[in-house]
Amino acid sequence: MVFIDLPRRRRRAAAAGAGAAGPSVRVLGIEVTQAIQNMAHDVRLIAGKAAAVRVYLAPRGVSSNLRVRGEIVVSAAPGAPGAYVPSANEIVLRASKHPALGAQRRDAALSLNFLLPDPPAGPMTVRLKRVSGLAGAELAVAPDGNERQVGFASAPVLRVRALGIRYGDPRQNPPPHHAPDPTHFAHLRSFLTRAYPVSRVEWNQAVIDAPANFVPPFSGPTLPNGFDPLWWTLLGILHQHMLTIRQADMDAGWDPRTHYYGLVSDHAGFFRGAANDVPTASAPNTIAVGPCGRAGAGFWDDDGSYGDWYGAHELAHTFGRFHPGFCGQGNDDDRFPHAKGHISDAGQDCIGFDVGDPALDLPMRAYPREAWADFMTYCDRQWVSKYTYDGLYDRLVAEETQFAPRIG
Ligand SMILES: [Zn+2]
Repeated sequence: MVFIDLPRRRRRAAAAGAGAAGPSVRVLGIEVTQAIQNMAHDVRLIAGKAAAVRVYLAPRGVSSNLRVRGEIVVSAAPGAPGAYVPSANEIVLRASKHPALGAQRRDAALSLNFLLPDPPAGPMTVRLKRVSGLAGAELAVAPDGNERQVGFASAPVLRVRALGIRYGDPRQNPPPHHAPDPTHFAHLRSFLTRAYPVSRVEWNQAVIDAPANFVPPFSGPTLPNGFDPLWWTLLGILHQHMLTIRQADMDAGWDPRTHYYGLVSDHAGFFRGAANDVPTASAPNTIAVGPCGRAGAGFWDDDGSYGDWYGAHELAHTFGRFHPGFCGQGNDDDRFPHAKGHISDAGQDCIGFDVGDPALDLPMRAYPREAWADFMTYCDRQWVSKYTYDGLYDRLVAEETQFAPRIG
């Protein structure tokens, strides 16, 4: 719903608020984030991709802890008519030792968060309109720093055809057949929508039968050089099968920018993922596959599927992203800028932010840069760094034009 804002009345209200006694707030900062961001807004904002506006507050004159909610006005320019957006959460203003800006950025529960599900391209002004206690009493908002201008740019879409690989298990009689549970498709699609630098994900999914010789066990004796010939053979069978399917789709007129990803259920064992290439120039015909299933108790990812970030990693290979060499992987990319494979460092000071997904019961979450690693590493707690986000974006832009379907 859109309301017309009246600048004169706003000024009068602000003046009245400033003179009144009682609790008030000062804005420490406003951050607009879609996956990874710093306070300087060095990470590009993408039109059409769900964004969170995070407002960091410092309370004044709060005598006992006070639970509040807020409202922002979002407009194309300062003072222009705008849309009012209520906060998605409530926060507690602490009477003493209210968390500082750095702590607030690291915890989604400490900032007022406003969801913009489909931000338009162009400039945007965000202004904190009001903060009120749950009983309805309004707190004065100091005018300094309560407004922030940002800009959203158009970006390509991500086109994925996700193929669930249905395979038999001849070790049992009668041989059962296994295919990914639907939730793994849903989690992968959601994760790509949340973590990739795209306006949306154009998604197609299907379950296909594996070739008859693609059967468990998926791994065998490992050679002294770490090589597993059994897995390698099965990987080749699967990549070739998917290449054949992709070619048939292309011959039938599918968009040549579509990336193909195969999901292998771990019902009969863990099938290690891999892409058939890490192309240094655009090559959307690169194929990747990976495992899916539900992680065991105690694993860092307990949301019901590990196929999501695993798939984001494998698909990123098909967009030319290499291993930066952390947590047990070889280093194929020595340009990765952050120690320990982290999503950021103190100099850049990006914090990860996940807008969540109500359909999968995933809440909004902030990911501290000291505790979360880039999903191109093998480390625990996987999210995206600005480095990988920008690299994916550049490749997506290149593919968008180089492989655009020829019309006519
Ligand atoms: Zn990899």
